[in-house]
Amino acid sequence: MNKPRKVTIIGAGMGGSLLAIYLARRNFDVEIYELRNNIASLPCLSAKSINQSLSARGIAALKEVQLWDVIKNIASPEHGRVIHEPSGELLYQPYGDTQGYTEWSINRNELNRALQEQFHRYPITIINEEKCVSVDFDTRVIELENQYTKKRTTKKVELVVGADGIHSVVRKSLEKKQVCNTRFEYLDWGYKNIFVPVPHNDTILFRTDAFHLWSKKKAAIFGMSNSGGNFTCTITLPLVGPDSFASIDSTESLLSFFERHFPDLSASVPAIAEDFLSQPATPFASVYADTWYYKDFCVLLGDACHAVTIFYGQGINAAFEDCAVLAQCIDNAYPNMEQAFSSFQTLRKTDTDVLADVCKDRFIELKDKYESPLFLARSYVFMWLERLFPGTFHSLYTLIVHSTLSYSVAVQRNNTGKRIARLCGVDILILVCVLWIMARKTAYRLLEKVNNLKRLYVSGFQKLAKSTLRKY
Ligand SMILES: Cc1cc2nc3c(=O)[nH]c(=O)nc-3n(C[C@H](O)[C@H](O)[C@H](O)COP(=O)(O)OP(=O)(O)OC[C@H]3O[C@@H](n4cnc5c(N)ncnc54)[C@H](O)[C@@H]3O)c2cc1C
Repeated sequence: MNKPRKVTIIGAGMGGSLLAIYLARRNFDVEIYELRNNIASLPCLSAKSINQSLSARGIAALKEVQLWDVIKNIASPEHGRVIHEPSGELLYQPYGDTQGYTEWSINRNELNRALQEQFHRYPITIINEEKCVSVDFDTRVIELENQYTKKRTTKKVELVVGADGIHSVVRKSLEKKQVCNTRFEYLDWGYKNIFVPVPHNDTILFRTDAFHLWSKKKAAIFGMSNSGGNFTCTITLPLVGPDSFASIDSTESLLSFFERHFPDLSASVPAIAEDFLSQPATPFASVYADTWYYKDFCVLLGDACHAVTIFYGQGINAAFEDCAVLAQCIDNAYPNMEQAFSSFQTLRKTDTDVLADVCKDRFIELKDKYESPLFLARSYVFMWLERLFPGTFHSLYTLIVHSTLSYSVAVQRNNTGKRIARLCGVDILILVCVLWIMARKTAYRLLEKVNNLKRLYVSGFQKLAKSTLRKY
C-alpha cells in the first residue's frame, strides 16, 4: 500500500483551511484549490461576510492546533441572547452564567483569513481562482478551471478531500460514479444576510455581548454583533406568500413589514433597503450524503457531506469537529487511508444526521411555536431547571452548542433529562407557567386598550378645548 504524503484539498473555506493545518502538522504536503480570489482581498463588512457563531465544538478543534488564542482576538463574546418580544419587551437569557457558557461572534471572512494566515508556517500551498470541475476516480485526476482565463487543466493527485461546501463538485463526481446518493431537503423558508447599523435609538438596549433574536410566527431575525458595535443580521422568511421574500419587493413594502413586525428595527430600513431588495433569497437546505469516501483516494468533509440549517449555529463548528475527528482517524489507521475514511464516516454520519434533524425541529419551534404559551412555558421551566441544577439538568440547546458530547448522545441525554423531569412533576410547573403567561398577555392587552382609550379621551378633550377657545 502506498503511503500518501500529499493531499489535495478542494475548497479553502472553514473546514478546508483548518484541515490543511491539521494535516500539515502531521507532515502531509498540502495543496488547496479555491475558486474565490485571495481571501485578503475580500471585505469583512458586507452582506456577503456575515458574523457567525463559534461555540464549544469549534473552539475545541481550534485549541487542538493551538489556534484558539489567535481566533479569540478577533471574535466578540456573547454571554446570552436578547429576545425582542412581540410586546416590544426585551428578555435577556444568559446561556449559563454559573457555568460560564459563551458563544463567540466572528466575521466569516476574518475567521477564514486568520486560518489562512497560518499557512506560511506549514507546507501548505493555496491556489486561488481555480475551480475544481470534476474528479476522475479511475485515473485519479482532477480537472480545474481558471476563474479568470476559463482555461481548463488536469492534474494527477494522490488523495483528494472535498471541502467544497454545500454544492460540492467532489460530491457530485462521487454521485456520477454511483458511489454516493445525496438527499437535499429544502425548507419553504430562506434567508438574506443584511448588515444593520445599530439604530440610534436610546429606547432600545442593543447589547453587543448578546445574540439578538426577533421571532414571529412568520418571520425571524438573528442579529450578531461585530467588533465595531454594528450587527449583521440574517433575515429569515417564507420564500413565497404574504409577507415573504417574494412579496416584499419595494422599499414601501419592506418598511410596512418592519413597522408591523419589527418596529424597533424600522429606523434601519432606509439603510438596509437596497441590500435587502437586490439580494436573492437563499432557501434553507440540509444535505444527507450516504457515502462520504471512495476507497483510499477521496473523502468529503463539512457542508459537502452534511450541510445543516442554521438554527443551532453549528455548521462551522461541525466542520471544525470533522477536522479533529478525521485527523484522529488518520492517526489511528495510517497508512490505511480507506480504513481512516471509513472510521471517519462511521463516527460522524449518525451524529451529523441527528444534527440536521434537530436543526429542522428548532426551525419549527421558531416559526410555529414561539408565540405559543405552552412552548414558552416549557422553555422557561427548563431554563429555570438548568439554572437551579446546573450540573445535572441541561437543555438540548446547551448540550448541542455548549458541550462536545456527540450530537446523538446530546439528544439522548436531553430526552432522559426530560423524562426524569416529568416524573418529578414538571408538567404542573409548566401548567402554572402557561397560566401566568396568559394572564400577562391579557393584562398587557387590557393595558393597551386603557392606553388607547386614554389617548382618544385626551385628543378629544384637546379638540374640544381648541374649538371652544376659537369660538371665544
Ligand atoms: C446565513 C448563515 C448563517 C450561518 N451561521 C452559522 C453560525 O452561526 N455558526 C456556524 O457554526 N455555522 C453557521 N453557518 C454554517 C457555516 O457557514 C457552514 O456550515 C460552514 O461554512 C461550512 O464549512 P465548509 O468548509 O464545509 O464550507 P464553506 O465554508 O462553504 O467552504 C467551501 C469553500 O469551497 C470553495 N469552493 C466551492 N466549490 C469549489 C470548487 N468547485 N472548486 C474550488 N473551491 C470551491 C468555496 O469558495 C469555499 O471557500 C451559517 C450558514 C449560513 C448560510
